[in-house]
Amino acid sequence: MIKKTFLLAMVLTALTVFPCAAESLEGLPLHVQKIEPGVVRVWVGDHVSSTAVCAIATKKGIVVIDSTDIPKLDEAFRKVIARELGRSDFAYLINTHGHGDHTNGNGAYADCEIIAHDSVPEMMRENFSNHTQAIGWVKENIQRQKDLIAAGKLDAKQKAAAEEQLIIATLKAEFLNSSPKPTYPSKTFRDKLVLDCGDVTFELYQSGGTHTQSDIFILAPQKGILFTGDMMADKWLSDTPGCLATFAVRTGSAEDYPVLVKNWQALIGRKDEIKQYVPGHWNGELSFEGFLARFNYLKTLLSDIEAMAKAGGDFNQFVAGYTLKDKFPALVGSPGITNQGHQMSVQHLYQIYSGKIALSTAIQELLRRDGFSAAFAELSGDVLKDRKKYFYSDAELNSLGYWLLQQLKDKEGAFQIFQLNAELHPQSWNAWDSLAEACYEKGDKQKALALYRKSLELNPASENGKKFIELIESEMKK
Ligand SMILES: [Zn+2]
Repeated sequence: MIKKTFLLAMVLTALTVFPCAAESLEGLPLHVQKIEPGVVRVWVGDHVSSTAVCAIATKKGIVVIDSTDIPKLDEAFRKVIARELGRSDFAYLINTHGHGDHTNGNGAYADCEIIAHDSVPEMMRENFSNHTQAIGWVKENIQRQKDLIAAGKLDAKQKAAAEEQLIIATLKAEFLNSSPKPTYPSKTFRDKLVLDCGDVTFELYQSGGTHTQSDIFILAPQKGILFTGDMMADKWLSDTPGCLATFAVRTGSAEDYPVLVKNWQALIGRKDEIKQYVPGHWNGELSFEGFLARFNYLKTLLSDIEAMAKAGGDFNQFVAGYTLKDKFPALVGSPGITNQGHQMSVQHLYQIYSGKIALSTAIQELLRRDGFSAAFAELSGDVLKDRKKYFYSDAELNSLGYWLLQQLKDKEGAFQIFQLNAELHPQSWNAWDSLAEACYEKGDKQKALALYRKSLELNPASENGKKFIELIESEMKK
């Protein structure tokens, strides 16, 4: 029986319209925003959640924050920035984190010092090594947008959004097909770095652990700006949040979090110096209140889950009582804060502080590789041999099984997951019910019938069980 479906895919739809831009680039509206004297923000698109590149004029030259995922755009942006700032002495590029849509175009600033957190080069290496897969995704996206447009069922805004997606995807395909090489940072740092540019100072703080491990906050006190990359937003200007979609504590290690808390706390203490919080994509906005609320959330999560893990409490019991609604009611409905993200955070931190492995994460890891069934059989054997090494829940394993059954059409894989779940939770009628369904799907009606009966013994009120028993019995009579 389905309890909930597992969301692994992100659907991007765009509906809102941004005021028209006067200029265009590659057929996309080009936006140039002067956010402070000597500071410009440049991006393309009214719908797609594209990277907004910032540039700051300083005595030591122009400092650019982030490149985009399409170097051709970065080369054009560089010219726009030079025109807007009335100079072309580019000196530094700072990457807010290692995602491709903030580093792919680094080559446009190859003559500059490129600064990033020290986990960025590894992330870039990985991005570029997934090249073939990325081409596949882009091709699929191009076809999807073409089909949407051709079907003629979109309203004007949706059509404009699909056309933008199509241009971006086509540019991306062109880039990927050119056998691109990464341009790595020339200078990296771990916890903090101060870049003195004469009249403007840039304070770079490690802030990894939510969006990626490589994120940094960049404070330019003389401009009153804090650049927050893709970590968060508390207002969305379009329906395409993209990189800023989820705020969750999910990517750090035990060593990262104390540094993140220290750095974030220090920036909150300097609130009077910060006039603007500037996210890495044009369609996100952030207020001090949103910045503070997310910090308090993170800090509370860290201390509560560390305490729970140390006390050796039952994870599932803890999770049941530790909901967003009960513990953080003020955050419910705030952009990027979701129940799914909250669960992800709790699980990730429990994994760190308890030293145990989240079974669902281990399974998802296997799903990314080939030969799921064989690998899962091995994992399953290990779980049954040493249950204390792992933590898991009935509902989570159940929804993963359904993900395989319905989305991936992998009947055997789903059967294996449901079978393990039933072994781990023999008192759960739902676990046996799902296993019965997998048997039925595989064509083993006899076994399905026996399992539905077992499930019904545990929960005589199960309508689903009764319905299937009737169906199977009638099918077997034929
Ligand atoms: Zn990102």
